[in-house]
Amino acid sequence: MCGIVGYVGPRDAVPVIVDGLRRLEYRGYDSAGIAVVANGRLERRRAVGKLRNLEESLRADPLKGDFGIGHTRWATHGRPSEENAHPHQDCHGRVVVVHNGIIENYLPLKQRLSRAGHRFVTQTDTEVVAHLVESHLDGPGSLETAVRRAMGEMEGIYALVLIDRDEPQRLVGARKGPPLVVGLGEGEQYLASDVPALLAHTRDFVFLGDGEVVVLTPQGVTLTDEGGRRLERAPQRITWDPVQAEKGGYRHFMLKEIHEQPTAVRDTLLGRFSLDEGEVHLEELGAAAEELRRARRVLLLACG
Ligand code: GLU
Repeated sequence: MCGIVGYVGPRDAVPVIVDGLRRLEYRGYDSAGIAVVANGRLERRRAVGKLRNLEESLRADPLKGDFGIGHTRWATHGRPSEENAHPHQDCHGRVVVVHNGIIENYLPLKQRLSRAGHRFVTQTDTEVVAHLVESHLDGPGSLETAVRRAMGEMEGIYALVLIDRDEPQRLVGARKGPPLVVGLGEGEQYLASDVPALLAHTRDFVFLGDGEVVVLTPQGVTLTDEGGRRLERAPQRITWDPVQAEKGGYRHFMLKEIHEQPTAVRDTLLGRFSLDEGEVHLEELGAAAEELRRARRVLLLACG
């Protein structure tokens, strides 16, 4: 589990994103990070530990952004460190990504991309997404297509939000498994893992379904299904107050926790089935490796 926030619009993106992350900090506190584009320049700032460390860094050395993305991490692949903190970027600092979930086939993808010349600097599964998308970029304006192509190659579960430094005022989000919601504003749009992150700004939400891709610009959002077909989905107006919203529509926190158990079990256990190089060598495990893979599949199916 982790928390994701994205913003595109006329305001400075940094305080909007940091405020949203504060409301999502329960989803992960291994590290926090932000990436924003201002005047065509991409800047990242990341800090290990709780969000307040990132906030302190931003106070000491302020950052401004025309649009951007942020993340609070609960590490599954790669230890909690600044280097492993999201957002992650491609070789040229052009594509940046925040991710909630696990890219199960990240090792073969990483090996293939490394052979093709991509340079990896973290131990995370997420960094593969940035390089994979980079490998599919055709030219200006191709981020959405590149994300869709990358989705065709990735196995696992993910909520993703990406920026291409060279596509001004545009965010691309994608979901397969973990939640992702779009908040609709007037001349500004938001993305987040959960409704409470955005309630200070909007009450109108579009909930992304599995396999869907969304493109956000200040003027509006475009939602498409797995095959790239345009979807029309009426926004839902959320009338909960912020406390009710944190209860996710349930009457009591206990009820919410009960209903969140499958996700919590999945998120907790899947991260422990580490098949990283140097930790578990599949060829040495022999038949046990297949058992492990089966157990992961069963867990994924059981936990929805
Ligand atoms: N697998 C990613 C990582 O370890 C994302 C973790 C998450 O969803 O919290 O950085």
